[in-house]
Amino acid sequence: SQPKTPTRDDSEFRDYAHSEISRDVATIKYSVVMHLTATFLRTPASIDSAHAYLASAFSVRDRLLQRWNLTNEYHDKIGAKRVYYMSLEFLIGRTFDNALLALGLREEYSKVLGDVGFCLEDIIDEERDAALGNGGLGRLAACYVDSMACSNYPGWGYGLRYKYGMFQQQILNGYQVEAPDCWLDTPNPWEFPRPDVTYPVKFYGHLVRDPHSAHRYKWESDVVYDAMAFDVPVPGYGTTNVGNIRLWSCKTNTLFDLNKFNSGDYQGATGGQVAAQILTDVLYPNDNTNDGKELRLRQEYLFCSATMQDIMARFRKTGRPLSELPDLAAIQLNDTHPTLGVPELMRILIDDEGLSWDEAWDITTRTFAFTNHTILPEAMEKWPVPMLDKILPRHMGIIYDINLFFLQKVEKQFPGDRELLSRISIIEETNPQQVRMAFLACVGSHKVNGVAAIHSDIIKQTIFKDFVRIQGVDKFINKTNGVSPRRWMNECNPDMSDLITEAVGDRSWVNDLTKVKQLEDRIEDVSFRERWWAAKQKNKERLAEYILTTTGIKVSAHALFDVQVKRIHEYKRQLMNIFSVIYRYHLLKQMSPEQREREVPRVVIFAGKAASGYWVAKQVIKLINSVAEVVNSDEEIGDVLKVVFIPDYSVTAAEVIIPASDISQHISTAGTEASGTSNMKFVLNGGIILGTVDGANIEIGEEIGEEQIFFFGCLAHEVEDFRHYLRFNQPKPDAALQTAFDMIQRNTFGDAQLFQPLIDAIMRGGDVYLLSVDFPSYIEAHKAVEEAYRNHDEWVTKSILSVARMAKFSSDRSIQEYAEEVWNIEPQPVLNCGL
Ligand code: PLP
Repeated sequence: SQPKTPTRDDSEFRDYAHSEISRDVATIKYSVVMHLTATFLRTPASIDSAHAYLASAFSVRDRLLQRWNLTNEYHDKIGAKRVYYMSLEFLIGRTFDNALLALGLREEYSKVLGDVGFCLEDIIDEERDAALGNGGLGRLAACYVDSMACSNYPGWGYGLRYKYGMFQQQILNGYQVEAPDCWLDTPNPWEFPRPDVTYPVKFYGHLVRDPHSAHRYKWESDVVYDAMAFDVPVPGYGTTNVGNIRLWSCKTNTLFDLNKFNSGDYQGATGGQVAAQILTDVLYPNDNTNDGKELRLRQEYLFCSATMQDIMARFRKTGRPLSELPDLAAIQLNDTHPTLGVPELMRILIDDEGLSWDEAWDITTRTFAFTNHTILPEAMEKWPVPMLDKILPRHMGIIYDINLFFLQKVEKQFPGDRELLSRISIIEETNPQQVRMAFLACVGSHKVNGVAAIHSDIIKQTIFKDFVRIQGVDKFINKTNGVSPRRWMNECNPDMSDLITEAVGDRSWVNDLTKVKQLEDRIEDVSFRERWWAAKQKNKERLAEYILTTTGIKVSAHALFDVQVKRIHEYKRQLMNIFSVIYRYHLLKQMSPEQREREVPRVVIFAGKAASGYWVAKQVIKLINSVAEVVNSDEEIGDVLKVVFIPDYSVTAAEVIIPASDISQHISTAGTEASGTSNMKFVLNGGIILGTVDGANIEIGEEIGEEQIFFFGCLAHEVEDFRHYLRFNQPKPDAALQTAFDMIQRNTFGDAQLFQPLIDAIMRGGDVYLLSVDFPSYIEAHKAVEEAYRNHDEWVTKSILSVARMAKFSSDRSIQEYAEEVWNIEPQPVLNCGL
């Protein structure tokens, strides 16, 4: 007799999968205890805070995964077009609190944890940051996936699952010391391993030409690694939709060589595993620099190949013709790091799918779009042709062809202009030749955008000037960055959030920041203003506490908090800030005690990591710490000036620091900071900016009004002339800057020799970042800040007005613009989707 066919009546399971998540405290408690016992082999009697966190987090994850399934099933079913945001960095930070707020379950979990003897805030502190990024670019990617989920856009992030994230920074004897970030040593509740989603990725090898086609090749190689997916659910706030970040990790178990093991070669047996694993072991800790390491190129390709194979696998399931790929998938390149996706898609379409070159190129360029993040020369990604050719012979061939066809077209358009061809060639004719990744990304994309208005203008006038002429100005657009109001207000600043909610009438502003405008109606409301300031004050006390625990330095929460936290980089000019602190110290020392009494007390707060190989940046950290040591122990100065370097800047540290600032500094040399995003976060949290006319500072000023922002310094269009002058002439530091140099050189802050190279870079090295040019106006701007801060009422008005006018800088606005103008995708809310 025939075996019985299993029935497919899955209605009961479907009911479960599609039921609303339970908000019942008893049910939540049951699920937490279930994880405590069944996932972690503990009992309520042997629970500690680490396991209280893990069990609660896993129970929240269950709820997220239920919605994850719903979201993706629905988007598959309706054939929704998805955007794939490819980024080598996702600086996510913590997820637990974010997920509780998104699901509206914070109070319920607080109650459950309270019942077993824990305070939710302490449990939140058990979570380690997912720090898979360096700074602004990686944090932007995290905010964007958050916005996609919250605005119901079908979209996934794609990235790498680094075993070691951003290094941990310790400060020893004033110097930065790096320690590995072993963030996966404890279970990670926020990822879901997908051993079934694994793709082979080839390296090296040789090509065999297809006898039937001039363009097709077979790529043969023995070096094949498996990239395995881990899915990171991204909670949508106040919506059923859950987003996803798919991170690739190199799978090593298939690479164990049993023959070598059996012959006694134990090291050789695991050699392949080690070689593979190293690919996804570490995040390169360089921000805005390209160090050209071969391992980095291999990381980039593993990432691009696995991602493109995955996107194609999903597309093939729809059964639609390949020409319709751009109707179902938009791919955004977050900087040039994922640019190998372009030749990889070409390879798949031509060699695997059998399309002609023209068909493949049409599909590819309609699918990709590219975000440029910088024009700093040291950050421009270039790969030596011999290296690329050795590791990825097929891709090198495809890049040559892309370049050839592009140059042929340009030659037709502008006959005989050999200079032009050499300027725009994807291959730079140096020795060895180099592949210019920004040009490859530009040619392979249908849209190219900068990340703030000034930056988008600059790229059109500089690196892409010729491309604007060739491909038309409409291809080059601006998408000003944004930040998530969920994390960067609602989560990190609960008291101010409550006040916004009071002004708006409900909490809907969290998903629609245009509503904060209503704060302006409260500007005259005395009680509101007092509570506003009380919220800021409470945040300052929280930061003072954090400073005490992390540095041992006691600061007064009644001082003006003056904050500069970001990667340490010459172009960001932390050096100029510390020179101004030295000058302030000098002035205070000249004053009588009575005069000092009348000064506005100030805490100058720095935090940020220097790339491990960036010597100058590390010396800047040392100088800041040396100045801090002298100033903070000077009894004559007391609380009038304190200097603090908070170690190990991270997303979690930012969530404590940003809400507590009175002023924050964004003081890059004009034209060097593409956008910045922390500037937006500070203003959104009621802080005032002291900044240069650069990046998104400019648009922030336009939105909130120039009375709410302190600008100084030369303008971007003046920079080249100043630099030119300083290449041939000694800088003339003003008296204030000279005083700072003199104090350092008199060994006021320890051995002057340590810091002489920093002064030499200005006095002998052409002062590339124009510190000597901007210093006088910087000092004037500081004075203006101080005067304004003395007028408390006016300051509170500035603070409230600033927040009220920050709607533009929500990442929801950025994502909506990308969705409409670049990706052509629509919101697809899952709720009531009728599955
Ligand atoms: N690093 C971390 C940890 C951040 O949270 C942020 C932004 O919030 C940045 C770097 C980027 O800062 P900025 O825009 O000042 O460069």
